[in-house]
Amino acid sequence: MPEFANVIVDISHERLDRTFQYRIPERLKDRLQPGSRVRIPFGGGNRMIEGYVTELTDRAEYEPGRMKEIGEIAGGGLAVESELIALAGWIKEHYGSTMIQALKTVMPVKDRVKEKEERWVRLCLNQEELGAARSLCIKKHQTARLRLLEALKENPRLPWAEVAGRLKLTMAALRPMEEAGQIRIEGRQSYRNPAAGTGLETPPVRLNEAQQFIVNQLTGEIGRKDRRPALIFGVTGSGKTEVYMELISRTISAGRQAIVLIPEIALTFQTVQRFCGRFGDRVSFVNSRMSAGERYDQFERARKGELDVMVGPRSALFTPFGRLGLIIIDEEHEHTYKSENMPRYHARETAIARAELCGGLVVLGSATPSVESYYQALAGRFRLFRLKKRASADSVLPQVSVVDLRKELEAGNQSVFSRELRKKMESCLGNGQQMMLFLNRRGYAGFVSCRSCGKPMKCPHCDVSLTAHRNGRLVCHYCGYSVPLPKACPSCGSPYIAGFGLGTQKVEALVGREFPGARVLRMDYDTTAGKGGHQAILEAFGRGEADILIGTQMIVKGHDFPGVTLVGILAADLSLHAGDYRSSEVTFQLLTQAAGRAGRRGIPGEVVIQTYMPEHYAVQAAAAQDYEEFYHREILYRNLLKYPPAGCLMALQISSASEEAAEEAARGLANAISDSCGTEGQVTGPADAPVLKVRDIYRKLVYAKAAKYSTLIAAKDRAEAYMKDFPGASKVQLQFDFS
Ligand code: ADP
Ligand code: ZN
Ligand code: ZN
Repeated sequence: MPEFANVIVDISHERLDRTFQYRIPERLKDRLQPGSRVRIPFGGGNRMIEGYVTELTDRAEYEPGRMKEIGEIAGGGLAVESELIALAGWIKEHYGSTMIQALKTVMPVKDRVKEKEERWVRLCLNQEELGAARSLCIKKHQTARLRLLEALKENPRLPWAEVAGRLKLTMAALRPMEEAGQIRIEGRQSYRNPAAGTGLETPPVRLNEAQQFIVNQLTGEIGRKDRRPALIFGVTGSGKTEVYMELISRTISAGRQAIVLIPEIALTFQTVQRFCGRFGDRVSFVNSRMSAGERYDQFERARKGELDVMVGPRSALFTPFGRLGLIIIDEEHEHTYKSENMPRYHARETAIARAELCGGLVVLGSATPSVESYYQALAGRFRLFRLKKRASADSVLPQVSVVDLRKELEAGNQSVFSRELRKKMESCLGNGQQMMLFLNRRGYAGFVSCRSCGKPMKCPHCDVSLTAHRNGRLVCHYCGYSVPLPKACPSCGSPYIAGFGLGTQKVEALVGREFPGARVLRMDYDTTAGKGGHQAILEAFGRGEADILIGTQMIVKGHDFPGVTLVGILAADLSLHAGDYRSSEVTFQLLTQAAGRAGRRGIPGEVVIQTYMPEHYAVQAAAAQDYEEFYHREILYRNLLKYPPAGCLMALQISSASEEAAEEAARGLANAISDSCGTEGQVTGPADAPVLKVRDIYRKLVYAKAAKYSTLIAAKDRAEAYMKDFPGASKVQLQFDFS
C-alpha cells in the first residue's frame, strides 16, 4: 500500500490548480483509493477541511517528516465526484497527462468572474403594461425605477453591469419590481435551460422487429457483471436513434441517467429537438458554442438531479450524473471523439472506463464502424447488432458510379466536372431537384506559387503553403495569418503568380460559370464561422432556397435532405494522401456518408465519385456500399504493419520554439523509450511532424509500436522521467498520443 496520498482540497472547481500531499496513517492503509473523501488538517491551527484523494503514491513530493497526516475518511461523499476523480486517474495513466490536466478534463472549471457578467434584467411587460407602469412611477416619483423601465423599453434584456452601474439601481429597488412581475433577474444561478421550448411532443414510434430485438437484448444489462459494450452497426436511417431513445427511456424508468454523445457537427436543432420532444425538460444539451458558464450551468443541473439525459459532444461524457446507467455514442467512428489537447483521450475508451466505475452500459452506433470497434466486436469483446434496412419503407439505397479522372483528361475534358457528372447535374437541375457537391478542401486554390521560380507562397509562422481565397487574400489554414495576394513573387519579383488545385470557393465559381441559372450555397469553415452559421445554411438548403450545396465534409455528416437526388464527390483522393495509417478508413467513411446523402425519400439517388485511384479498395468498397469488404482489406494491412487495432501505437510530440531544443529532446526521448521497450516494441524517429512548424512552434515526432499497451505505458513513464532530468525541459513541451 502506498505511503502518501495526493489530495485535492477545494472541490468547488474554481481552483483545480494543485494537489497537496499527505501521509497515510497505518490505520487508513488499504482503505483509501482515488476518489475517497477525506478530512485533513489544512493551514495553521487545528483547522480540518475536506478533500478528495486523487492519487496514491510512494513518491514523496517533499520531506515526509514534515508532511501532515490524513485525519479520517469522511462519510457521505458525493459518489459522482469520487467516480470522476477515479476516472481522471485512469485518464492520466492511460493517456499520459498530469493529474491536474486530467482533473480539469473531467471537472469543468467554474469561472467566478463570469458569474457576475452573466446576470441580466429582463422586461416582463408588454407595451401597454409598460406604459401603465411608467405612468405609475412618474406619479410616485420613483425615478430609479422609471430610469430602468425607460432603458428596458430600448433593450428588454439589460446586462447586470449596466443596471447596477450606469443606471445605478440597487437590489432594494429591483426586488419590488421583480415581485410585481415587471422584471425578471436572470443569471447563472437560474440554471437557464437551453433546451426550453425546443421540444415538439414526439410520441415513440413502434419499433420494428430488428430494433425491438436490440432493445430486448440490452434491457436489464445495466449493473450486470458480465455486461459488454454494444455496437449497433446500421446504415443511416436504419432507426438507431429510435433504439437509443427506447433504451434511454428504460434506463430512466430504472432510476438511472443517460449520456448521449453525438459529433458536434450533428448537434443541430433537429437532433436536440427530437430528444427534447421525447424527454421534455429532463433532457439538456451542451455544445462548444456555449460559453463556459452556460455549459457549467447544465452540468450543475445534472449534478442536482434535475436532468435524466445529457446530449452533447465529447466533453458531455463528464456530466456529473450520480446514477449514470447508459452512455450512447452515436457515429462512434468520428475522429472528433478523440481529444486534440492533453490529455488526448478517446471518448469511446473513456466511456467504457466510466461505465466500469458506475456499472453502466455503453452503446455505440455507426453506419461505418471504426476498424477498432468492429475488431472488438468480431473478437467478442463488444456485442454486435445489425440494422440492415432503412426504417422508413420508402427510402432506397443510391446508385453509385466511379469516374476515372485520368480518362477524362485523355478525352480532353479539363473541367472539374466529369462528363458523367455534368450530364447528371444537368438532368437534376432540369427536374428541379437538389444536389450536393463535396470537396474536402476550402478556399479557392489549393496553393499558390510563382510560375517563374516555382516557389510556393508560405505562411511565415507555419510550415505550410497559404491558400488563396476569393477575396484576394492568401490565408494560412493553420494559424489564420492572411496577406493580400502579392503583385510580384517575393523571391524573384516575377508577376506570374498562380493558384493550383481546387478549393470549395473555386468550385462555386466554376458552377456559376458552367451552370449560370443554378442557385448555389456554399458551406465550409469560411461561411459558417459565425454563431449558428451552418445551421442557417442547412436550413436554407432544406427549404429549397438553392439547387446546389457545395461544401467540405461538413455537408456529409448526418443531415437529411429529402430533396437531394444527386451527390457529386469531386476528388475522392484528397483524404487518401493524408499520410496517416487511418487515411483509407477516413476516405471510406467520408465517401460512404456522402453517398448516403442521396435519395432518402422515395426518389432513388445517384452518386458520382470522381477519383484518380478508382482501383483503390476504399473507393471500390464505398461505391459498393460494402463495409465488410472494406474492413477485410483494411485489417490485412493493419495486421501486416501492426497498426491499431492489431497493435498499439504511441506518438510523442515534442514541441519547442527552438528547433534545436526540440531535436535534442526528441533524440534523447527516442533512446530512452527504445531502452524501455527493448525487444517488445519498435521505436521510430525522431522525425519532423507532417507540418513541422505551426504558430512558430517546431514539432518533432517519435513513434513507438508494441503488441501490448502496457509496454507503451512503461515507455511513457520512462519518457516522463527522462524529461524531468532534461536540462532544457522548460523550453520543450512533451505530449503523448495513444491510438
Ligand atoms: P438512424 O439514427 O439510424 O439514422 P433514425 O432513428 O433517425 O435512424 O430513423 C430514421 C427515420 O426513420 C426517422 O425519421 C425515424 O423517425 C424513422 N423510424 C425509425 N424507426 C422507425 C420505426 N420503427 N417505424 C417508423 N419509422 C421509424
Ligand atoms: Zn518567383
Ligand atoms: Zn500559419
